[in-house]
Amino acid sequence: MRIAIASGKGGTGKTTLAVNLAHYMAGRHDTLLVDLDVEEPNCHIFIKGALRQKEEAKRMVPAWDTQGCSMCGKCVTWCRFNSLIRLGNTILVLPELCHACHLCSELCPDSALPLQAFPLGTISWIKDGALDFLEARMKIGVEQASPLIGQALDYVDKHFAGKEFQLLDSPPGTSCSMIAATKTADFALLVTEPTPFGLHDLSLAVDTLRQLRVPMAVVINRSGANDGIIEDYCASENVPIWSKIPHLRKIAGLYSDGKLLYEQVPELKQSLDQIIAKLEERT
Ligand code: SF4
Ligand code: SF4
Repeated sequence: MRIAIASGKGGTGKTTLAVNLAHYMAGRHDTLLVDLDVEEPNCHIFIKGALRQKEEAKRMVPAWDTQGCSMCGKCVTWCRFNSLIRLGNTILVLPELCHACHLCSELCPDSALPLQAFPLGTISWIKDGALDFLEARMKIGVEQASPLIGQALDYVDKHFAGKEFQLLDSPPGTSCSMIAATKTADFALLVTEPTPFGLHDLSLAVDTLRQLRVPMAVVINRSGANDGIIEDYCASENVPIWSKIPHLRKIAGLYSDGKLLYEQVPELKQSLDQIIAKLEERT
């Protein structure tokens, strides 16, 4: 079962839930955690372990062959992503904007746009006790997160297809990268906080997952007196609330120290037990 852990906005506690749930679950189930927040992966702060494998992620983009090109200009009109520009007698390729569709390379009458590898980042496989952990990390300067997320999910399909649970720590927000990370999930856990900002961004995430036809449940982090704002929304939208994580100072303290929380915070362990029980019911 593939579960995306997502949130409409950053800072809601998505990674806190992902790392603690994955580490705790690994004691009972064959579990994989994947950090797909590729622009700023931070699960590694909490999940320590031994590196098993690290590979460079690349994709093939066109490079202009000065000698072969007859300057017909067709490639510039074909590219829907404005990744090719004609400057005088030069064809400029913008690999950051290229979507690697390879159309220009295939159709160039002079075969003057051969493909070459463009680095995207790294994919690392780490083993922490019973937990397998995969981190996708984007190279600084790369513009698009989705291609690396796609390659990380291909890696999961290739090496971890038999896992009982695959937990995906998705990028925050509701943009392309969040969609790339959640669209293949069997289920999504949406982490939110009981504030007007939390509610606003939760509603965007719910709308997005509905478009993707991914079933979902909500977890309220920093739960307290204002939970009604989320409860009313979830009731009106028929989205179940699976658990609440209380707003406790000791959670903030342990988190700041880069520590896993569930063994030291019984309230969190109880929340995780509720979530695991619900996930087990769905398998
Ligand atoms: S399509 Fe090929 S030959 Fe024509 S301008 Fe582009 S690179 Fe040159
Ligand atoms: S591969 Fe596709 S996206 Fe990239 S430059 Fe060529 S036509 Fe444009």
